[in-house]
Amino acid sequence: MKKSVGNSTFFLKMIEISNKFNNQQTIAEPVSINGIGLHSGVDVSMKLFPAEADYGIKFVRKDLNKNNVIEAVWSNVTNTKLSTTISNQSGASVSTIEHLMSALSGLHIDNVKIEINGSEVPIMDGSSIKFVDLIDKTSTQSLNKKRKILKVKKNIKIESNDSSVELKPNNHFSIDFEIDFPSKIVSKQSCQLQLVNGNYKTDIASARTFGFEKDVDMLRSNGLALGGSLDNAVVVGESKILNSDGLRFEDEFVRHKILDSIGDLYLAGSPIQGYFYGNKSGHHLNNKLLRTLFADNDNYEYI
Ligand SMILES: [Zn+2]
Repeated sequence: MKKSVGNSTFFLKMIEISNKFNNQQTIAEPVSINGIGLHSGVDVSMKLFPAEADYGIKFVRKDLNKNNVIEAVWSNVTNTKLSTTISNQSGASVSTIEHLMSALSGLHIDNVKIEINGSEVPIMDGSSIKFVDLIDKTSTQSLNKKRKILKVKKNIKIESNDSSVELKPNNHFSIDFEIDFPSKIVSKQSCQLQLVNGNYKTDIASARTFGFEKDVDMLRSNGLALGGSLDNAVVVGESKILNSDGLRFEDEFVRHKILDSIGDLYLAGSPIQGYFYGNKSGHHLNNKLLRTLFADNDNYEYI
């Protein structure tokens, strides 16, 4: 890991060789977790169940009696404002799925049924580490079917104002991310980091979501971040971090953006073999990238 201070851009590089797991995986036993929704502020319980090969990742809204299954795939994404929301044909939705999806991707879980009794995945501590710990509690089981890996065959780039995302052919899954906020706190360092297999847990999973103190009133008046607190987000003030414990990593912000991207990209429906680059991007561009990828069969193949 190489770090330098004094640059206004964070830079972090991740390499993950996920092909190691040839067979599809699920969790060994059902596991439960409770918490509050970041945006709704509502209490919610979730229970994860093992699922058979090729089941994929599906949410089941237990508080609805019918049409309550929502498949976690890119084509079901209906809202990307501050978090990623998926919906089914009947309008049943689940929001803020990205941290849980990230943990499932980081731990190579292909198939799982997620029962939830509300419309927003609990935020826990603002990172994915509680979901990683939850899955670690039961461990994983290998299924008797090969994993399907999506291999990127062409360069795809999406730009919007000064943000961009890219996918390129590569021998493994690798992520580069840069952020550059107009804030003394967020933009005062740069960092390069390479992750190898298994480092998701130690280097990415505990990076928390973040927000700026100046935006809190605006978010709340729009009915957002109602469950937000210093217990589930890093709050950045004018000249300091408001959380008394400070940061978990010097470059926690960019690590969290990587955590989010890993979760959003897992909505491809399978692990990706390719290079991802994000520049000041977020959930909206991540989903647009997948929509563009899947719009042309020549862009990818399954291996
Ligand atoms: Zn996030």
